[in-house]
Amino acid sequence: MVKEIGLGLGLAILAYLGMSGYDVMPLIFLAAAGVGLFYIARTRGLVAKNFNDRGPSLFQNITFADVGGQATAIKELQEALDFIRNFNKIKSLGIRPLKGILLTGPPGTGKTLLAKAAAGYTDAAFVATSGSEFIEMYAGVGAQRVRKLFQTARETALKIGKNNAMVFIDEIEILGGKRGQTTSHLEYDQTLNQLLVEMDGLKVDGRVRLLVVAATNRVDMLDPALLRPGRFDRQVKVELPDRDGRVDIIRLHTRNKPLAADVSIEAIARETFGFSGAHLESLANEAAILAMRESLSEISQRHFHEAVDKVMMGEKLDRRLVLSELERVAVHEAGHALMSEFVRQGSVSTLTVTPRGQALGYMRQTPEDDTYLYTRDYLENQIAVMLAGALAEELILGSRSTGAANDYQQATGVAEQIIRAGMSELGVVDPETLPQGLRYRVITGILQGQEQRVRDYLCNVKKALAGIVEVLLEQEKITGEKLREILRAEAA
Ligand code: ATP
Repeated sequence: MVKEIGLGLGLAILAYLGMSGYDVMPLIFLAAAGVGLFYIARTRGLVAKNFNDRGPSLFQNITFADVGGQATAIKELQEALDFIRNFNKIKSLGIRPLKGILLTGPPGTGKTLLAKAAAGYTDAAFVATSGSEFIEMYAGVGAQRVRKLFQTARETALKIGKNNAMVFIDEIEILGGKRGQTTSHLEYDQTLNQLLVEMDGLKVDGRVRLLVVAATNRVDMLDPALLRPGRFDRQVKVELPDRDGRVDIIRLHTRNKPLAADVSIEAIARETFGFSGAHLESLANEAAILAMRESLSEISQRHFHEAVDKVMMGEKLDRRLVLSELERVAVHEAGHALMSEFVRQGSVSTLTVTPRGQALGYMRQTPEDDTYLYTRDYLENQIAVMLAGALAEELILGSRSTGAANDYQQATGVAEQIIRAGMSELGVVDPETLPQGLRYRVITGILQGQEQRVRDYLCNVKKALAGIVEVLLEQEKITGEKLREILRAEAA
């Protein structure tokens, strides 16, 4: 508003001077040069940004009820925030105010969402930024932005009549990494120092009470000064959701979507072990897009099923394989699938030879339960499933191919895990101090043992393998049920 009035006034003066016979050209030139310089400085970050661009109004409606599967994190966060809500009690007891809360955890688990809900819970103005916005090659700019950020938060709160303001800094490790470690460390250090200064200056009795909430998935990279009591002295862990958590989150993201009667949210949750909240949001969205592509008015279970593939592996590719390659991919995937059924019946969910993301084809397993601890048998079974692709190629086509390189890498990783967990014949050892030769021998022993087991099994089910490959070449995709049917028919 002030800008507009100034502009109007300036133009009116110029017009008046022009009409009075003054030469206004030098004035116009000076004004244009001034405006130009301001914008160049602004785009280069020399003039502090307005952090209110993402304004508080956008976040007003988010509450803790919109965050699924994070009951523990919400409880811990609420406990900390109650310090702010019960401000008078805190003050009367002389308790130092809570200045910072650090949310830590993997990407997409809802840290930003929690911060927005926290702002609503404490009735605070919310100003958000990210660590990367402070990094500039010009010395002093980052520090100036930190000052501006805190100032904006206070001003915003006053403007909308609130006593509390929340500054949210995402990816704080970029701005708050250990000092003296980056190449342009002086600038980084100044920025971090300024943040520490601002946090130290937060008072209980200021007109606006400020709380800093920061998020990171690399807490190990943070400068210890940030974690010192009196700064970010509360840490709240935001973990990947477990199965019940995933059910919650899927429910939240399908609230506004028409679901067909066959949709089982529990079944979707079971298929999505390891998915974050962001993955699940994307899954619900992709399922709806698939239903729309088929001009349907409801989303069915099969849309969710396909959306899992899309979120896990990426978009289907139009790439067409030549027939010999397609056959190799079919044999490879059928090998994985048969071995998977052998080690755990009913474990194959789908099998396809449609290229998607980086993969030419893939076999998807349905996890039975979320599993966090593994026995040696379990890990050996995993190795067997990984090796079965290449061994099926060898058995049916007479040779292996480069398509198995990734499988070997994973299988070796699992064999190393067996050693690390003290489950190999070496017993409990420190793998780092093991002689290379010995380590190599143990890993090779584990892999070769499984190779022999897989070879024996695939020879026994060679006919079923051929049957599955035939269906795959014809239909490109096979469900777990169909695969088990073929297997049963061949065994009978
Ligand atoms: P990053 O570390 O990458 O910044 P983040 O942990 O801050 O990620 P958000 O930005 O909060 O994650 O989540 C991204 C989106 O994913 C949200 O807008 C929301 O749609 C969805 N989402 C993530 N976690 C949850 C959750 N626990 N409940 C509901 N939705 C979630």
